[in-house]
Amino acid sequence: MPQGYLLTKSKYIRGLQCDRALWLDVFNPKLARYTAEQMRRFDHGREFEYAFKDTFPDGIDISAQLKRNTSAYPALTAQLLDNNGNVNLFEAGFQYDDVLVLADVVHRRPDGSLDIYEVKSGSTLSETYRRDAALQHYVISHCRQINTFNIVHKAPKSNPPNHSNHSDYSDHSDYSENSDHSDPSDTPFTIVDLTADLQAAHPEIKHHIAIMKDILRHGEPATPTGKHCLEPYACPYQHYCAQGIRQLALF
Ligand code: SF4
Repeated sequence: MPQGYLLTKSKYIRGLQCDRALWLDVFNPKLARYTAEQMRRFDHGREFEYAFKDTFPDGIDISAQLKRNTSAYPALTAQLLDNNGNVNLFEAGFQYDDVLVLADVVHRRPDGSLDIYEVKSGSTLSETYRRDAALQHYVISHCRQINTFNIVHKAPKSNPPNHSNHSDYSDHSDYSENSDHSDPSDTPFTIVDLTADLQAAHPEIKHHIAIMKDILRHGEPATPTGKHCLEPYACPYQHYCAQGIRQLALF
């Protein structure tokens, strides 16, 4: 069990998929098995994220200072935001309602409000990305004033620049279910401002968090396998749950 918080963004997303997967993620994560293809997607997502972070050469990487001491991220984030002017932070930590989220890139504006960028390596804005963003907006908005909350994803190469509510950067995890695998270094970024949409999701998120906390107060759920084991992500506990089914079949 982590110290100081119960849930993270990845555990929340896992919990939306399956209560048993959430429980295993918190209490027995060593059971998770990822395929080579999933690991390749993780690596690709990280490369794409690093490429976007490179567009903020003065960015301060909190994860480089605190490593796995994630409970300490919110305090250092607050200190850096309070003591600096227009600072750019990577992996800035915020905690509210027993949920810790780490934002890929946070830009502090002169008035103290924040522009937040979450980097996703897919080429479309999926529903999972929106849910992920909504949780982060819920947590961060209870800690600081948000000016904009943006998803950065790969610009479809065939699309011309879109100048509506998207911004395309030609110079400038998450690890997508719709990620393509071209070289991220030659790919411009599409930035989608979701600020106006995310506030409305707060009541639903608060409700889901309360349910997940309740799941974690009890023993492992006996959730049966089904279609949900593959959508939106292939669950890394399928071998474990399949073992249970095989044992039941022996009796
Ligand atoms: S394999 Fe299916 S039932 Fe088991 S934890 Fe994963 S999503 Fe849940």
